[in-house]
Amino acid sequence: MGERAVAIVTGASRGIGRVIAETLAAGGYDLAICGTRVETIQRVAAALMEAHGIEVLADAVDVADRAAAQSFVQRTSKHFGRLDVLVNNAGITRDGLAMRMKEEDWDAVIATNLSSVFHLSQAVLKPMMRAKKGRIINVSSVVASMGNPGQLNYCASKGGIEAMTRSLAREVGSRGITVNAVAPGFIATDMTAELGEEAHARLAAQIPLGRLGEPADVAAVVAFLASDQAAYITGQVIHVNGGMYM
Ligand code: NAP
Repeated sequence: MGERAVAIVTGASRGIGRVIAETLAAGGYDLAICGTRVETIQRVAAALMEAHGIEVLADAVDVADRAAAQSFVQRTSKHFGRLDVLVNNAGITRDGLAMRMKEEDWDAVIATNLSSVFHLSQAVLKPMMRAKKGRIINVSSVVASMGNPGQLNYCASKGGIEAMTRSLAREVGSRGITVNAVAPGFIATDMTAELGEEAHARLAAQIPLGRLGEPADVAAVVAFLASDQAAYITGQVIHVNGGMYM
């Protein structure tokens, strides 16, 4: 078994996932990271190895694909000989009003954001149960609590993640595994850049802290939940939203 703890971070090629990977790398974890584009994720892996002297396994993995997700977990376990943390961060939006939402946009968001969390969580349980220790951290969203017009599919996927978090936490607590979610508010990434500057100003005005969040605001909480200090926290949803929902 390697000396360094090992974390899987999905959707680590950019945005919040990339900063989660950087934060865990700085904390001395070895990593297994994925995105949808092989060259991009391997470039991120090379930068992490160079900057932090850690080992990184990187691949293009469609987390919505059950077999691909399971195989990624198996390769990670085999490569490092241990598996301590799973961060389910990969996610997409396919926005549209309910009246007009296409079935394929519903299916894609549920498969990528929600079913992926089931596939990956199920796959890590075996090695984590064997080790009697593990951390599963799911990235939800404030809209799971608030709702958001035009995001019925996305809100349903994130609400599902939060319910799954509580259910799995109850199943595996006695095995030393904690399961928690982090629910970001509006964070400055490609996902929110699509909204444009005017919308950003309007959103910032509704946030008590007066600004959008940074990926590092979310990554810090993920790193805490992964740490030994968070050993007595499970089944929780931690909000990181500048006060926009309380
Ligand atoms: P982002 O900048 O759009 O990045 C999304 C990441 O997910 C990319 O690395 C992407 O890989 C990966 N990804 C997408 N589909 C995938 C698939 N099928 N298989 C594997 N990887 C996939 O998004 P973000 O803003 O950082 O969001 C990260 C997470 O935070 C998501 O779960 C999102 O719902 C959640 N969140 C974001 C905000 C926000 O305001 N930004 C707020 C609340 C919650 P490629 O680069 O290869 O496409």
